[in-house]
Amino acid sequence: MRSPTLTTVSDSLAAAPADPGADPADPAARPWRRPALSPSRAGDFKQCPLLYRFRAIDRLPERPTRAQVRGTVVHAVLERLYELPAVQRVPAAARAMVSPAWEELTALEPELVGQLFTGSDDPELPGWLESAGALLEAYFRLEDPRRLEPEARELLVETELDSGLLLRGYIDRIDVAPTGQLRVIDYKTGAAPRQVAEARALFQMKFYALALLHLRGIVPTQLRLLYLADTESLTYEPDEAELRRFERTLDAIWVAILAAGRTGDFRPNPSRLCDWCSHKALCPAWDGTPPEYPGWPEDPAAAGAEETPVDRAG
Ligand code: SF4
Repeated sequence: MRSPTLTTVSDSLAAAPADPGADPADPAARPWRRPALSPSRAGDFKQCPLLYRFRAIDRLPERPTRAQVRGTVVHAVLERLYELPAVQRVPAAARAMVSPAWEELTALEPELVGQLFTGSDDPELPGWLESAGALLEAYFRLEDPRRLEPEARELLVETELDSGLLLRGYIDRIDVAPTGQLRVIDYKTGAAPRQVAEARALFQMKFYALALLHLRGIVPTQLRLLYLADTESLTYEPDEAELRRFERTLDAIWVAILAAGRTGDFRPNPSRLCDWCSHKALCPAWDGTPPEYPGWPEDPAAAGAEETPVDRAG
């Protein structure tokens, strides 16, 4: 069984060193990865070019939050729920998967326990696991998984646009109707401010729709966001002209990233979101000093050296 846990943690929080014992400050200790645009990184660049640099080029490790890791656990459970026979996909079954998903995650990343809690006997741990169960209960109020047979879950999509821009991301779920129509589903577990989260989420969904248009030659009929924390959903129906315009937007973002990549001029763009930035201490906008710019990774052949999510899942 493929575990999305490590994938989700490492992809969403930027890269950890390939060798867990290696010094994360040592660039040689990190696997080379061809720069690609994911929805998260594109959002980072739009928010703050220096944040993009820290995450995508320096690949500085970040300390996960409880909310982020709870999201990882919930995503893992929702993926596995669909491995059960349809009739067994009930709330109690999902809740029963929470602790095993957490245990599996901490077996792969034992340091998480100490990063999030005082230890495995932290009195706050049961309540945190319970909160993951509550998000899963909310999921069942949004849809009935007994009536669904997804075509794909935690699907890696990767495609290169004509401009050479490589798109890479993970789609939580794809449903295909008997008519061949595609529906893309994304689970949201965070409690980010709704306006900020919604803009980023729509950007993300258009990104996936464009990637699917390139990979499969069809426009997904529906993009559906399921907000588990407030039991709401948002459905969006893209059209091809809009996705083609969005492609030009992504190309423009990529041109700006490449321009900054050549010179290393990734400027900080301070905002209230700096309070959530893991790299404030290194940020000149906050009297910090960034590490020396490691340079833009240029060697496409080295991309093959990168560990893929499937590899990571073993
Ligand atoms: S602290 Fe703010 S300005 Fe600095 S890198 Fe982070 S998000 Fe950008």
